[in-house]
Amino acid sequence: MEYRRLGKSGVQVSALSLGSWVTFGQQISDDVACDLMRVAYDEGVNFFDNAEAYASGRSEVVMGKILHEMGWPHETFLVSSKVFWGGELPNLKGLCRKHVIEACHASLRRLQVDYLDLYFCHRPDPDTPIEETVRAMSDLVHQGKVLYWGTSEWSAQEITQAHAIARECHLVPPTMEQPMYNLFGRHRVEREYARLYAEYGLGTTIWSPLASGLLTGKYNGGLQPGTRAVLEGYDWLKEKITRDAKEKGGQLQQLEKLAKDLGLSLPVFAIAWCLKNPNVSTVILGASKVTQLIENLQAVGAQAKFTPDILKRIDEIAAV
Ligand code: NDP
Repeated sequence: MEYRRLGKSGVQVSALSLGSWVTFGQQISDDVACDLMRVAYDEGVNFFDNAEAYASGRSEVVMGKILHEMGWPHETFLVSSKVFWGGELPNLKGLCRKHVIEACHASLRRLQVDYLDLYFCHRPDPDTPIEETVRAMSDLVHQGKVLYWGTSEWSAQEITQAHAIARECHLVPPTMEQPMYNLFGRHRVEREYARLYAEYGLGTTIWSPLASGLLTGKYNGGLQPGTRAVLEGYDWLKEKITRDAKEKGGQLQQLEKLAKDLGLSLPVFAIAWCLKNPNVSTVILGASKVTQLIENLQAVGAQAKFTPDILKRIDEIAAV
């Protein structure tokens, strides 16, 4: 495993980490979730990603039980949560001080840990002043309940605002962002955030490196049984995957051919490409099977195959 600093902070995250969206507490059994975390940990993965919203809290319950049963010292891993979607009632959603603090306490209970290593604002909340959220996050850090706080899918302007408020009010600024990043979704990480890396030392924990499985090539022949695209309650994802598979079929074939020429499977190629970006601190993997995870973990070693010529060819196929 390779380890990278989370932006300019001193903490080190494994270049590949493991997330639980769709899978834990929903698509897969708790036994498979346990196997995934065990394999990941044994291979050097030190960051496990979660959120209050995932499977309405069940994902954190499953992960918390596994962390407890495994007995791994907290010093050997980082665990995250995200606050935003806690429920439908007023104050169970968004980033007001009340929800940020209460959601953190609830995640700590579900995950059975004393502190969250990383805590993210899952989306920007237009109904709460950014200062209120920055203050709440900063307080959680001062209380030792959160070690590093960050944002997810905030605009560059919102992140800049959060930093300005933190500086002015002597609060703890956000350390990291969790944006989507993959061969078909490059703009935010490569263009919109370009100034933030040097300016604030922003770290990134990037999500959906395989665009929910599209970048494995498995949807080239249509929807596949047993995948998240056909899960109940994910009709929006099914529509997106169906549309993207049609629109991007030509690009997928070209990428698959390039991957094959390098002796790589398409998923390993797509994940290794994400790792080549020096502003990516960690690529969060998703997997519903242990075989998928074992395959995807090869991406660390595959980075060496990406010469400048190969990267240029990729840019020609999948432009920013
Ligand atoms: P990916 O885009 O990598 O999709 C993962 C899924 O692709 C797997 O669950 C599996 O789905 C399929 N897959 C993975 N590897 C293979 C393989 N080798 N061969 C075939 N199929 C494969 O990542 P996710 O979308 O899961 O995102 C990763 C993590 O990022 C999440 O778990 C979560 O922690 C985080 N995230 C954060 C978000 C945010 O807003 N901050 C939003 C979304 C995710 P299948 O069961 O269909 O085979």
